[in-house]
Amino acid sequence: MLHGDNFAVVIPIEQKEHTDNKPFCDLSINPDCSCRKDLTAIQTLDDYVMQGLLTVEEALRTYEGKMLI
Ligand SMILES: [Zn+2]
Repeated sequence: MLHGDNFAVVIPIEQKEHTDNKPFCDLSINPDCSCRKDLTAIQTLDDYVMQGLLTVEEALRTYEGKMLI
C-alpha cells in the first residue's frame, strides 16, 4: 500500500489571526486560543467601551473574533 499521490496534506494557511484591530481570533475556529485569556487585550477592549469607541455588544463580538473594525 503506497501513500503518495492521493495523500492530501492539508496545510493551514498562515493567517494573521491577531492584529491591532482584531486582537482576538475567531471563537468558532479556535475556541481554546490563548488570546481569549489575554488580559491586556481584554483591558484594551474594556477601555474602548469606556471611551465610547465600541458598544458592549461590539466589544463582545470583537472578543469572539466576529468584529470587523
Ligand atoms: Zn487567538
